[in-house]
Amino acid sequence: MIDPFNRRIDYLRVSITDRCNFRCVYCMPEEGFPATPKEENLTFEEIARLVRIAVTLGVTKIRLTGGEPLLRKELPDLIKEIDSFPGVQDISCTTNGFLLEELACRLARAGLLRVNVSLDTLRADRFTDIARRGSLEKVMAGIEAAFDAGLEPVKINCVLMKGVNDDELADFARLTLDRELHVRFIELMPMRWNLDEGPAYTPACVTGKVQLKQSAGGMLSDAQMRRLFLSMDDARRMIERELGEMEEAFVPTNGPARTYRVPGARGSVGFISQITNDFCSRCNRLRLTHDGFLRPCLMSDGELDLRTPLRAGASDSDLAALYEHVVDHKPERHYLAEGQRVVGRGMSQIGG
Ligand code: SAM
Repeated sequence: MIDPFNRRIDYLRVSITDRCNFRCVYCMPEEGFPATPKEENLTFEEIARLVRIAVTLGVTKIRLTGGEPLLRKELPDLIKEIDSFPGVQDISCTTNGFLLEELACRLARAGLLRVNVSLDTLRADRFTDIARRGSLEKVMAGIEAAFDAGLEPVKINCVLMKGVNDDELADFARLTLDRELHVRFIELMPMRWNLDEGPAYTPACVTGKVQLKQSAGGMLSDAQMRRLFLSMDDARRMIERELGEMEEAFVPTNGPARTYRVPGARGSVGFISQITNDFCSRCNRLRLTHDGFLRPCLMSDGELDLRTPLRAGASDSDLAALYEHVVDHKPERHYLAEGQRVVGRGMSQIGG
C-alpha cells in the first residue's frame, strides 16, 4: 500500500485492549477511562482476520499494544496465529513490563520476537508517583525476563518530563553501557487530556522540581503537560553533559528514532521526537484500535469503523478496500506544533 505522499505502508500497530493495570499520569486518569462494553471489543478471531488482510496488502510488521496487551490472556494464541501468516516478518509488543516476568517465555515460544518496555523512572518512589500502580521491581524483573527469553533487542521507552525525570536521563543512558539494551526517550505528546475535562492531577513545585502528588486523582492537564515538556535536543544535551558526546548509531528496528551511542556502550540511546522533529514524512504505520477502528495517524482524530462491516459479513476484499481507503486518506503530517488537538481518544484507547 502506497499513500498519496508516496509512503509505503507496511506496519500495523494493533491495540488489543484499552484496559491497563497502570495509571500513568500523562496517559490515564486515576479512576481509568470508562470501560468499553465487552461486545464492542474485537474478539481475537476478528483481530486475527483483520491482521491477515493487512498482511495480504503488504504489511510485514505487527506491533501489539494497548492499553496493556499482556492483560489479555489469549495473547500467546494471537501471536501464534499472526506468526503463521505468510509475509509477517516482525511481531513485537509494547508493554509496561509488569506481567512480563511470568509471560516472557510463553510469548517468545508463541512467536513474539521482541519487546519494548515502558519505564519513566529508575527510582521506586517516583515510579509510584508516575505510574500510580505496579512496582519498579516487577518491571525490572520483566526486563530481565525479556533478555532471558531472547525477546531482543530489548528496548526501554521513557517519556521525557521536565522536572520529573530529567535528572535521571544519564542514569537511563548508563544502562546501555554494558549490555545491548536500547533506551528511547519519547517527547511528551498532548493528547485527549488537553480538553481539561475532569479533575486535573496536581503536581506541586518543590524547589523548582516537580513532585507528582501520590494522592491526587485525575491526570495531567494540558497546561501541566506543556510545562513538563522537554525536547529531544535538551534531553540529549543533558545526557552528553554527564557522559560525553554521543555518536550516531544504527539500530535496524529503531524506526523513526534518532539513535546514538554513548562512547564505548553496547546498547544505544534513541529519541522519538514527534513534536520538535516530526517523522511524518517517513511514517509507514496504520493503527487498529481494540474496538475495530482503523486510524491512519496517531495524532489525528480521523478513523474508519471496520467492526461494523466485519460483523455485517463483509468479505476479505471488502475489508481490504477499507484499508486502502484509509491509506488513501492518510494525512501528510500532524499539526501538533501548530496547536492541533487530538481529542477523540486518549493514547491508551488508540494504542500507543
Ligand atoms: N501499556 C503499554 C505500555 O505501557 O507500554 C502499551 C500502551 S502505552 C499507551 C504505549 C506507550 O505510550 C508507553 O510507552 C507510554 O509511555 C506512551 N505514552 C502514553 N501517553 C503518552 C504521551 N502523552 N506522550 C508520550 N508518550 C505517551
